[in-house]
Amino acid sequence: MTQPNLGTALITGASSGIGAIYADRLARRGHDLILVARNRERLNALARRLSDETGRNVEVVVADLADKADLVRIENILHKDASITTLVNNAGVGATQNLLESDVDELEDLLTLNVNVLMRLTHAAAPGFVARGAGTIINIASIVAIAPEILNGVYGGSKAFVLAFSQSLRKELHDLNVRIQVVLPGATATDFWATAGTPVEHLPSAIVMQADAMVDAALTGLDQGEFVTIPALPDITELEAYEAARQKLMPNLSLSVPADRYTS
Ligand code: NAP
Repeated sequence: MTQPNLGTALITGASSGIGAIYADRLARRGHDLILVARNRERLNALARRLSDETGRNVEVVVADLADKADLVRIENILHKDASITTLVNNAGVGATQNLLESDVDELEDLLTLNVNVLMRLTHAAAPGFVARGAGTIINIASIVAIAPEILNGVYGGSKAFVLAFSQSLRKELHDLNVRIQVVLPGATATDFWATAGTPVEHLPSAIVMQADAMVDAALTGLDQGEFVTIPALPDITELEAYEAARQKLMPNLSLSVPADRYTS
């Protein structure tokens, strides 16, 4: 059966792991693809397989998103290509060592990719989505956005940025028909862990999800209209209670006088 044409999805970090699974699933759903990462061979192999298997148009753009000129090339694609309906901000790196044992230049590179690049690509994509009255931005955060004590705090802070930015974007773009989903995976079996210094085999298998199961759950969450998706969380009412507590705080966070406990 011919798939519907859902427009083009631009996926960053599509050469491996979670991004490559998004590419597979979005092509099968009826998206054409623009795959972005540094590893040309992996991108080309994935593009060939997906276009053979799905008949979709799959374009490869080799780019180091930490390089400003390369990043601007991707921003220009997002500005100009009106067929783009979906942006998956997935490219990211982690850190598993404590702050005091970490190389500060590597942490700065992490912030560039996980924070600045995601912000700039969103800023590039959103105006077109607003002008066309439709679009979806999927931001890949992490459970460490709300549990930063688990891993390196700079990585956790970068993912807390992704969550906070997504919360704000959702409010700003909701009435303009632009959907935001923020995905908070737990440990997922990809190269991420080896790249960050702790191979995934060193983690207890009970906390590690396979990447295809993680992405399939996240896309089901998207279909269900979720804003925050935590693929592993068994009981959604726990997340709802957490969000309700946050909402309850909001009207009282900025008042003209200090709280009694600070003045009596
Ligand atoms: P991965 O397999 O290592 O994939 C990372 C992707 O980012 C690769 O495609 C890599 O491609 C790309 N990338 C890295 N640096 C780049 C750069 N400078 N420019 C362009 N692309 C770059 O890891 P993953 O687990 O799939 O990670 C994807 C996302 O999931 C990340 O944002 C990560 O923080 C998040 N996440 C992962 C886990 C986990 O446990 N795996 C849990 C929560 C969240 P090239 O090397 O070809 O450039």
